[in-house]
Amino acid sequence: MAFLLLLAAGSAYIVLENHETPHYVTDRGAVFGTTYRITYAASASLQTEIEERLARVDSSLSPFNPASVISAVNRNRPAAADSMFARVFVLAGEVWRQTGGAFDITVAPIVNAWGFGFEKAAAPDSSDIDSLRRLIGFQKVRLAAGGGVVKDDPRIMLDCSAIAKGYGCDEVARLLDEKGVGSYMVEIGGEIVTKGRGPEHAEWNIGISRPEEGVPASDAGLLAALAVTDCAIATSGNYRRFYYKDGRKYAHTIDPRTGRPAENAMLSATVVAPGCAAADAFATAFMVLGPDSAQAVLRSNPKLQALLVYTGDDGKPRIWVSERLKNKVRQIGKT
Ligand code: AMP
Ligand code: MG
Repeated sequence: MAFLLLLAAGSAYIVLENHETPHYVTDRGAVFGTTYRITYAASASLQTEIEERLARVDSSLSPFNPASVISAVNRNRPAAADSMFARVFVLAGEVWRQTGGAFDITVAPIVNAWGFGFEKAAAPDSSDIDSLRRLIGFQKVRLAAGGGVVKDDPRIMLDCSAIAKGYGCDEVARLLDEKGVGSYMVEIGGEIVTKGRGPEHAEWNIGISRPEEGVPASDAGLLAALAVTDCAIATSGNYRRFYYKDGRKYAHTIDPRTGRPAENAMLSATVVAPGCAAADAFATAFMVLGPDSAQAVLRSNPKLQALLVYTGDDGKPRIWVSERLKNKVRQIGKT
């Protein structure tokens, strides 16, 4: 009898072990002009389905894809009704409202004029900026009933680059949920969705790179690591896409209120939220708002947490972490 019990306990142990250390698959590839890496607990790769889902996001939101819904909207051509585009448009409107217009997908003409968009140019003069600023404002656009967007001016264009990567992560996460995958980390160009447990720990370890100018994220070294799960994480920074002209630095986040690259103390903003499209959009907005106004938005939206890196009054880098995120920060490196 004792022998039987032991055997039973032994097999239960094996079952538990197998349950606790499932097989993880990692798929890698390229999308939206960047790379993706998706790690998930499954017995076989789902990469074909993942790429199909990402292709749908691309044909909805990529301004570099001439056949996309957003390209049709920007060229004033009839656009197909598309639920992905509509979802992102509605969420973009919500973040625009909550950030007092700091996040605004109608910045496209100004982003292009500064040379950071889907049309090339560099450093407009102030009269160009003044005339382009009149085209900016999310209140000037609305969803059309049969698909596409109604604009107050045909020169208005949309840029969803600050929300589409996050949305792509949400879509892949939704696909993995539909497939019954319980644990995953979806990463597209640094924006991340996590669920369940990682291969080694109860949570997923997410590294946040040090904001260093011109250094690719992979070489920059870690500023901090977050141990999190069941949430999305997105980071924006002014240290990767920028250029110098006449001794001045121009970074790729545009302040829609001035029509110029945002200039404030913020070096990078990492946002943790239930969904990655929102995390992505708020991270961009925080770069525009700077540390004080970003913290005010965080106070008014309890679903958001953040890790902000900014230059203090003494010129030295500072890290600020939301109260509820503090116990998830595993390591803080040198700024
Ligand atoms: P992200 O890397 O997510 O912060 O997105 C930055 C990109 O979003 C830029 O390269 C622009 O294409 C676009 N963008 C710049 N400023 C804004 C803004 N204020 N609101 C929305 N999108 C923006
Ligand atoms: Mg963003």
